[in-house]
Amino acid sequence: MAKYVYSFGGGTAEGDRSMRDTLGGKGANLAEMSSAGIPVPAGFTLATQVCGLYLENNQTPTEIDAEMQEHLAKTEELAGQKFGDVENPLLLSVRSGAKFSMPGMMDTILNLGLNDETVEGLSKRSGNPRFAQDSYRRFIQMYGDVVLEVSKNDFEELLEEVKKEKGVELDTELDADDLKGVVVRYKALVLERTGSAFPTDPLEQLRGARDAVFRSWNTRRAIYYRRMHDIPHDIGTAVNVQTMVFGNLGETSGTGVGFTRNPATGENKFYGEFLLNAQGEDVVAGIRTPRDIEELKGVMPEVYGQLREITLSLEQHYKDIQDFEFTIQDHKLYMLQTRSGKRTGPAAVRIAVEMCDEGLIDKKTAVMRVEPNQLDQLLHPVLDASSTGELKTLTTGLPASPGAAVGKVVFTADDAVTEAEKGEPVILVRAETTPDDIHGMEAAKGILTSRGGMTSHAAVVARGMGAPCVAGAGDLNVDHKTKKIVCGEATLGEDDWISIDGSSGEVFSGQALTVDPDVESGELAKFMVWVDEFRKIGVRANAETPRDAAQARKFGAEGIGLARTEHMFFEGDRIDHVQAMILATDEQARKDALAKLLPSQRNDFYEVFKVMDGFPVIIRTLDPPLHEFLPKREDLMVEVAEATIKGEDTAEKQKLLDRVNELHEFNPMLGHRGCRLGITFPEITQMQAQAIFEAAVQCAKEGVDVIPEVMIPLVGDVKELADQKKIVVDTATEVFEREGRSVKYMVGTMIEVPRGALMADQIADEADFFSFGTNDLTQTAFGFSRDDSGGFIKDYLAKGVMEEDPFQVLDQTGVGQLIEIAVEKGRRTNPDLEIGICGEHGGEPKSVKFCVRTGLNYVSCSPYRVPIARLAAAQAAIEAE
Ligand code: PEP
Ligand code: MG
Repeated sequence: MAKYVYSFGGGTAEGDRSMRDTLGGKGANLAEMSSAGIPVPAGFTLATQVCGLYLENNQTPTEIDAEMQEHLAKTEELAGQKFGDVENPLLLSVRSGAKFSMPGMMDTILNLGLNDETVEGLSKRSGNPRFAQDSYRRFIQMYGDVVLEVSKNDFEELLEEVKKEKGVELDTELDADDLKGVVVRYKALVLERTGSAFPTDPLEQLRGARDAVFRSWNTRRAIYYRRMHDIPHDIGTAVNVQTMVFGNLGETSGTGVGFTRNPATGENKFYGEFLLNAQGEDVVAGIRTPRDIEELKGVMPEVYGQLREITLSLEQHYKDIQDFEFTIQDHKLYMLQTRSGKRTGPAAVRIAVEMCDEGLIDKKTAVMRVEPNQLDQLLHPVLDASSTGELKTLTTGLPASPGAAVGKVVFTADDAVTEAEKGEPVILVRAETTPDDIHGMEAAKGILTSRGGMTSHAAVVARGMGAPCVAGAGDLNVDHKTKKIVCGEATLGEDDWISIDGSSGEVFSGQALTVDPDVESGELAKFMVWVDEFRKIGVRANAETPRDAAQARKFGAEGIGLARTEHMFFEGDRIDHVQAMILATDEQARKDALAKLLPSQRNDFYEVFKVMDGFPVIIRTLDPPLHEFLPKREDLMVEVAEATIKGEDTAEKQKLLDRVNELHEFNPMLGHRGCRLGITFPEITQMQAQAIFEAAVQCAKEGVDVIPEVMIPLVGDVKELADQKKIVVDTATEVFEREGRSVKYMVGTMIEVPRGALMADQIADEADFFSFGTNDLTQTAFGFSRDDSGGFIKDYLAKGVMEEDPFQVLDQTGVGQLIEIAVEKGRRTNPDLEIGICGEHGGEPKSVKFCVRTGLNYVSCSPYRVPIARLAAAQAAIEAE
C-alpha cells in the first residue's frame, strides 16, 4: 500500500525537504529540521494526496486512519505522553501546509485532545488550573468554529456574558472556575447548534480536525489566494499533527516569529517579535503588539543565543532568508516551523545581491531568486518629500511594506473594491486585517492598520502582494462603525485623502505627490547587470512619446517595439486636422488635411529616433477605425436635435453627423481598421511614411544612428502587406532622392489575426520582420471582444472555466500554437526574419518565457515592465540550460 503518513521528531524523520509535493512546505521543513537535530516537537504529516482522496470521497479512507494511528503511537513515544491519558495527556496541534505557503488561508486547531478528564491532567502537570481551563475553552471554541461550524461570534458572546456577570472587562480577570463555567456554556451551545454533544474521544477529535483542514483547502479565501498567486487548485494541502508545546505557561514561556533578515528591506539583520506567556496566534493575529526580538536577549539570554544559532544555521542550510516560528516552554526552545521568507521586491533584490556577495549563492541562483513581477515595487514612485512637507503628519507606524500610496480612506474591504472599480484610488484603513479582507487589500493602493506588528496579517499579505503598508500605527483610533479615524486633534472620514509611506511608516493627511525611484545605481542596477549576462533575447518598449521612450531606455529597453501612431493624433490641435482629413470628400481635400498633420508627425518621430539613438524603432501605420477620432454619434444626434429646436444653423453639425453615420460600424474591432484603412486611403500611409523617412534622414544628417522599421497592422494576406509596402518603399525612395541621403530601414507586419499566422510563409516573402500583436490575436483566436470580455471572463475565472485572463497571460496552448506556426512558417521562407511580440503579454513573465522558448528575437512591453521582461527572459534562458 502507498505510504500516506510520515513521522518526524527526536532527531530523525521519514521525509526531507525534497518532498514538498507530498509533505507540503511546512511538513518537508519540519522533517528536514528534525533530521538536522533542531528541537522540533514530535509529530507526523499526512500527505497532500490524502487531501485529494478526502475531497473526492468526502471522507478519509479507513486504511489511512489506521496508518495515522500507528504514527500517533510513535509521537506518543517520542513525547513521553499518551493521547487521552488522564495523568499526562498528549495534546496536539493540527495545521495545514500546502506545497506553496498560503499564510492564514486555511484552518488550524490547537490543544486537541482535551476533554473533561484530560483537562485535569493538564492542570496537574502545569500546576496551573486556570491555564488548563483556558486552553480547554479555546480548544472548544476553535474546534466548534472550524470543524462543527458554530459561529466564532456566538462563542465570544458567551464569554462576554460570563465577564459581564462577574463584572470584569478582561479575559485575564476570569479565574479557573469562571472558565470552567465558560466551558459548560460552550458545550451547551455546541449541543444546541449541532444536535450532538461536543466530541470527547480524542481520536474522534483528531479525525474531525484533520478532515476540516482538508475542507479548508476549498474555502473562498483559499481559492482566491491561489488564483492571485498562481497556485494550482489540484495539489491539495498536507496536514501536520504535532505535539503541543505551550508558550503560555507563565513568564518563563513565550512564543515568537522572526526572519533571519529584514523581509521588508532585505537588511542583513536578525529580525523578529515575541510575546511572553502567549500562544502563537496572539503574535500573528495582531491583537497584542509584540516585543522586539532583541529584548529576548535581556529576558532569556540563553534561549536567545540558541535561537540565533539555530536560525543562522537554518539560513546557511537552506541558503535563503528563513521565516521561523518558535515557542519557549519553561525556558526550553522549540522550533515550530521554518520556511523561505516572503519578502518585498526591494528585499528580494537586496538579499539576492548580498547573499551572492557573501558567497552563499552564485549569480545564477541570485537571478532566479527574484520573481520578475516583484521588480515592479522598485520601479514605482515614492512620496515626494517636497510635497509631504506641506501636509500634516498624522502619525508614524511600522514600515511594513515599502512604496508610496496615496488615496481616499475606506474602512471595509468591500468598500475598497467598490471604489476601486469606480477608478478611485483608495487606502484601506483597519484596526487589523483578517484573511477575509484579502479582496479589499488587493483593490486598495495601500493598507494602513492601527494594531499589529511587522508580522501581522496586514504586513505579511501586503508584502506578498507588493502593496505599500503601514501597520501598527497605534495613535490612530479606527472606528469601523462610524467610519472615522481619530488621531489627536484630527478626525478623518471616508473620502478624505491620506498618503502613506510603507518604507518609513509615515502617514500624512492629504494628497502627496510622488517621484520616480532611482534605478541606475545601487543594488537594482547591479542585479540587472547580472540579469543581462544570462538573457539571450532583446527587450524593447512600446512607446510613442519622447518622454516614455527616455523612461524605457533608462529601464534598459533596447529599442521601440511598437509606436502606436494614432496616439500622436490626439495632441493639441492635431485632432482638428485629423477630423478635416476624415471629413474630406475627395482625395485632394484629404491630402491637404494630411499635409497639415505631416510636420507634427515628423517631429514626433524625430524626437523618438533621437532618444533611441543606436536602437531600432518600430513605427506602426494607423490602426484604429476612423470614427474613433470623431465625436460620438449619440452626442452629435442630441446636439443637432437641440440646435434644430433652437432654430440655429445645423449645417456643419449635420455634415459631421452624416459622416459619422457613414463610418458607423456594428463591429468596429473587426471593421475598417489596420491595413484596411491604408488600402482604402493610401494617402494616410503615404503621409506617415513620408514623416518617418524625412525624420530619419534629418536624424542621420545630425549624426544620430537611426534604425526605422515600418510595421503594417492587421495583415491576414500577403497582398495586403504588398500593397502597403509598395507605398512605404516608393515614399522612402522619393524622400531619399530628394534629400540626397538614405537610411537603412525595414518593412514588416504585425501577426495579429489567425489567417496571418496560418499564411505566414507567404507573408514572410514580403516581410522583413513579424511582430505578434497578441491583444488582437487573442481576441480573434478566442472570438472574445477585447473591449467587452471583462464582464464574462470574471465569471470564467470564478468558476474555474479558465485559470487566467487570456488578455493578461498568453494562452500558450491555443493562441501559442498560432505563434509557433507563424514562427516556423515565417522562418522557413525567410530564415533572417526578425520576430518579436508587442501585445500586452510582452511584459508578462510567463508569456515572456514562452516567447524565449519559441525562439522570438525580442519582446516589447510598456516601459515600466521592461526590467520585468529582462528578468523573465534571463530566467527562461537559465531554465533552458
Ligand atoms: C495587439 O493587438 O496586440 C497590439 C499590440 O496592437 P493594439 O493593442 O494597438 O491593437
Ligand atoms: Mg492590434
